[in-house]
Amino acid sequence: MKIIDSHMHVGLAGFDPQVILRQMDREGVEMSWLLTWEEIDPPLKELYTGLPPGPVLEACSQYPDRFIPFYAPDPSNRDPGKIIQKYSEMGIRGCGELKVSLRWEDPLIEKYLEVVQAHNFPLVFHMEQPRFQYIRPGEGFFQWLLERLLNDKFNGVSRYYLNRLAETTGILRKKIEKNRICFPGILFDFAFLEKRVVQFPGIRFIAHGPDFWNQISISLHPRYIHQKGTYDTFGIIDRLLESYPNFYCDISGVSGFNALHRDRRMARIFLGKHAEKILFGTDNTGLPLLELLRSMKPGKEKMDLILRENALRVLE
Ligand SMILES: [Zn+2]
Repeated sequence: MKIIDSHMHVGLAGFDPQVILRQMDREGVEMSWLLTWEEIDPPLKELYTGLPPGPVLEACSQYPDRFIPFYAPDPSNRDPGKIIQKYSEMGIRGCGELKVSLRWEDPLIEKYLEVVQAHNFPLVFHMEQPRFQYIRPGEGFFQWLLERLLNDKFNGVSRYYLNRLAETTGILRKKIEKNRICFPGILFDFAFLEKRVVQFPGIRFIAHGPDFWNQISISLHPRYIHQKGTYDTFGIIDRLLESYPNFYCDISGVSGFNALHRDRRMARIFLGKHAEKILFGTDNTGLPLLELLRSMKPGKEKMDLILRENALRVLE
């Protein structure tokens, strides 16, 4: 089985092409899609890592049998259509990763999707909920610790309880309110996403990210960044995958891994039901996703779809 990793970045967390190739060889991955991240004016500069198309194209021309180039210019560019046209001529095979603080409702997105559809490109995108982000006002261990605890430490649990404590007792309240900024979220409006999926039947939409994968279950708890625990009823993503032939997802990142891991019984049903719509991808995490998938025994045919065939099909 020759695996395709449909979500990989060059230049992220020390992943140069050689590191990626070594990891691919170890895991039995034949090819990887290399995705960019471009946001002209990211609302949280601290969390932004620009991943430009230059190194992607360079790696792909060096190893054309191993890498497939993608590029998603920011839709806020003056003329994204022209950029996509130019990079299409330079060999990109799809748009991704689209990870910008816009909503599906935005007219900029509509214009962008027109171009993506005209090029017959698949579109890999990220979804993330709005939230407050605490920015430490100074240096020192306590400041650093508080920043971690009020943001992503312990999967959001410390953030949840510290904010509740601040609201009910007033402790730290002023400090928190003064130093937090509002993160507007990323492409998280599901209702409008569904409209766009219907409006652009020629685009293979490939979703991922915490907001997408949390919706594998209908129940959501504000305590967590990545939802935890077992559940009985699938959430909205089950219906979208079922309803629209042009709607796909990739199981990359902490969010994809967590979604399968949190309830193995339901994950098995999900994999069985949507094997034709799920793409394998790692997002540079190094998590044991292959082992997790294999341990769920979806059967050879479904495994082939997830690990390889779907990625080939959406590129056609
Ligand atoms: Zn990514």
